[in-house]
Amino acid sequence: EAKAKGRNTFHFYSQELDEAANERLYIENELRLAIRDNQFTLHYQPQVDYRNNEVVGYEALIRWEHPERGPIPPTKFIPIAEATGLIVELGEWVLEAACRFSVKLQKQGKVGNMSINLSARQFKDSNMKRVLSDVLARTNMPPKLLHLELTESMLMGDVEAAISQLHQIKALGVSLSIDDFGTGYSSLSYLKRFPVDILKVDRSFVKDIPEDPNDMEITAAIIAMAQKLNLEVVAEGVETKEQVDFLANNNCYVVQGYYYSPPIPEQSVEVFKVQ
Ligand code: C2E
Ligand code: MG
Ligand code: MG
Ligand code: MG
Repeated sequence: EAKAKGRNTFHFYSQELDEAANERLYIENELRLAIRDNQFTLHYQPQVDYRNNEVVGYEALIRWEHPERGPIPPTKFIPIAEATGLIVELGEWVLEAACRFSVKLQKQGKVGNMSINLSARQFKDSNMKRVLSDVLARTNMPPKLLHLELTESMLMGDVEAAISQLHQIKALGVSLSIDDFGTGYSSLSYLKRFPVDILKVDRSFVKDIPEDPNDMEITAAIIAMAQKLNLEVVAEGVETKEQVDFLANNNCYVVQGYYYSPPIPEQSVEVFKVQ
């Protein structure tokens, strides 16, 4: 009995692993076709200043509409694109498409600040600086309107190499943000040495405000620290009026989240008004 059960358990797990491996392989193959066939679009999520209800910028977020499967979320395919190196080509496409759209908005007299997510592989790529300056030139994007989002984990490891790469990228005139701040484990002494401009408070701290007093303390502390270090601070994943009010009362005025708007397609951005 026990033996049979053990064998079944083994088969059960091994079958699950097979399925996960097959799914990975499937996504990897489909990613190649998707890049070739332009199955990607970008959506843009407004960042709003609480004090005057003005949009101050957008974050570009990639979307994949698979012809048979429908939408596949970035949390599923970005790690695979990263592991296979496909992210380098895909990331360059994101960069160029987001810059082009920003320039279009600027021509309409709208705010052009554009945040894009960089992956670890792109950040470490020795061609990164050249790719960036080529895209900026090709699209006529004013460098200071481009905000590159990095995560703490990308900067740890070889910290000296990361600092040098950050300085080289910054020399192009772009701004740098730390995304999902508080979820990685960068030490505060390093934070001071990274030439970054913006901290994005991770959604995990914001989502249980006002029920969780610990999260409220942590969020307030992150905002206070950002200000001490002369960094701008943006809160992510803000969904309720209570959260916006709490953040503003603690001196974080720029917020991004479903409370103001989910990520939206280009045509919706062009007519977007803060409610
Ligand atoms: P992220 O950069 O931290 O982006 C924020 C994520 O939170 C987005 O998920 C956004 O849709 C979601 N979000 C925004 N407001 C709210 C809210 O109020 N509530 C909740 N529950 N969620 C909210 P999305 O678009 O699925 O992207 C997930 C992650 O995938 C991103 O996290 C980023 O790490 C990665 N990603 C997305 N686009 C790109 C890209 O073009 N390149 C790279 N390298 N990574 C990307
Ligand atoms: Mg981001
Ligand atoms: Mg984030
Ligand atoms: Mg996040």
